[in-house]
Amino acid sequence: MQNYDVIIIGGGVIGSAVARELCRYRLKVGVLEKESDVCTQTSGRNTGMLHAGFLYKPGTLKAACAVEGNLEFDQVARELDVPFKRTGKLIVGFTEEHRQRLLQMIERGKINGVPGMELIGRKRMDEIDPSAGGNFAIYCPTSGILDPFLYTVALAENAVKNGAKYHLYTKVTGHEVLPDGMHLLHTAGKGDFSARWVVNSAGLQSAEISAMLGIPGYVIQPIKGEYFVLDKKAGVFARIPVYPAPTEKNTFDTHATPTVDGNVLVGPNSFPVEDGEDYSVSQSGMDGLQESGARMFAHMKRDYYIRTFAGARPKRIDPLTGEIQDFLIERRDDVPGVINLVGIESPGITSALPIARRAVALLREKEALTPNPDFDPVHRGIRRFHDQPADVQAALIRENPDYGEIVCRCETVTRAEILQAIHNPLGVCTVNGIKVRTRASMGRCQGGYCETRITAMIREELGKKVEEVCLGNGSSYMFTGYVKGGDRT
Ligand SMILES: Cc1cc2nc3c(=O)[nH]c(=O)nc-3n(C[C@H](O)[C@H](O)[C@H](O)COP(=O)(O)OP(=O)(O)OC[C@H]3O[C@@H](n4cnc5c(N)ncnc54)[C@H](O)[C@@H]3O)c2cc1C
Repeated sequence: MQNYDVIIIGGGVIGSAVARELCRYRLKVGVLEKESDVCTQTSGRNTGMLHAGFLYKPGTLKAACAVEGNLEFDQVARELDVPFKRTGKLIVGFTEEHRQRLLQMIERGKINGVPGMELIGRKRMDEIDPSAGGNFAIYCPTSGILDPFLYTVALAENAVKNGAKYHLYTKVTGHEVLPDGMHLLHTAGKGDFSARWVVNSAGLQSAEISAMLGIPGYVIQPIKGEYFVLDKKAGVFARIPVYPAPTEKNTFDTHATPTVDGNVLVGPNSFPVEDGEDYSVSQSGMDGLQESGARMFAHMKRDYYIRTFAGARPKRIDPLTGEIQDFLIERRDDVPGVINLVGIESPGITSALPIARRAVALLREKEALTPNPDFDPVHRGIRRFHDQPADVQAALIRENPDYGEIVCRCETVTRAEILQAIHNPLGVCTVNGIKVRTRASMGRCQGGYCETRITAMIREELGKKVEEVCLGNGSSYMFTGYVKGGDRT
């Protein structure tokens, strides 16, 4: 049995932010994650917007955490080396009714503490982004875009650097409280773990884990969102995220968002599903996105489609009325040693560190924590060869010839970067794990050229058999055997 001071169930952006914040103290921290990596679930299936915080009801945790997370993000991005651009955002309207809703939104933004929002006309919109649809818009200067994969990975790797231990492929299946008050967690095939404290950051499964830990009654309704990813050729036309005026229920329909790497995301739509982890997309959903996306983004053309994907927002709903609830961040005296984070839907990426600080503050109410003098908040990611000026690229190749070999031609990712990714501090060894860390296979050909080469490199570097290398989760094997004899090592 492995023993920790604190065990975190779920290593997405929330669990990883909590792990990092706990490492500021002298604590033995363990993270149990059922999947092959930290951003395979909701944290890797979203828009990557750093929300400003004007959408949420004043006084809620969603409003407070979004504004706090937004305003501190320049420093966070520098500290953790996360690709981030404070682009601003347009929320566009076509009708008088839209104008009224946008004016209400500016008022709500002011109450929540969002600086600089203003209503602008078409002329100013054209100066900001001529590809944006609409007759008028709110311009919100504090909104931004970030790489949600690299943010989650950076939080997790920084936690590991500061002493946390991640257990991947480790699904928590049961829980007991021992006579001395310690929590005992059973896992599927990875043995038992014990800890004084358990943090529930299990995302779509957070209500289930909450009940397992002794706090029943919460309900999570997964709300699916589907997306198109557009080629960088479309990205040159997208300067700024463009959202439609909010619906009557104060949610946003399809929007067009540039990514930090120069692609465009069109989506998400929004509909309830039973299985939040069914990430398939539907033809009808994609047809709808084509139509609604074209209203937001003038260059929404089929020639630009390179991929689709989906995610599901873990919305906590009132079991009786179905009404959507605020984030839940709780510690209860009747269930000692549990910090419960339930219903962390959007703006969860923006709010990850503010949520984590609140979770740690709840723990500190019960236990005096000793600061960790060795805590180092700085993380350095893998340096992107593609983004370097020519003289730096030449120097890199002179220093290390592996920078001279391009493995992913669409995104110009070198062998040197792939090797660094294969030897990542979390021990992730899937092809998708390399993809999110380097962008290899994220380009126009979607891995047609480089996936087999990456598979071979994982096999060589980690001493695996080719049949053992997976694309992502579970049994998604890249190869299942040989058609004609061949080398079986
Ligand atoms: C379509 C969409 C768009 C969004 N857009 C934005 C946006 O633009 N900006 C923004 O701020 N937010 C956005 N969000 C919200 C944001 O993505 C989430 O709030 C955030 O990623 C939640 O992080 P998490 O760590 O709680 O969840 P997850 O990333 O799902 O992590 C939970 C982890 O728990 C693990 N787990 C579950 N059960 C167990 C178990 N029994 N044992 C071990 N591990 C377990 C899971 O495998 C998972 O990895 C969006 C969400 C969606 C779906």
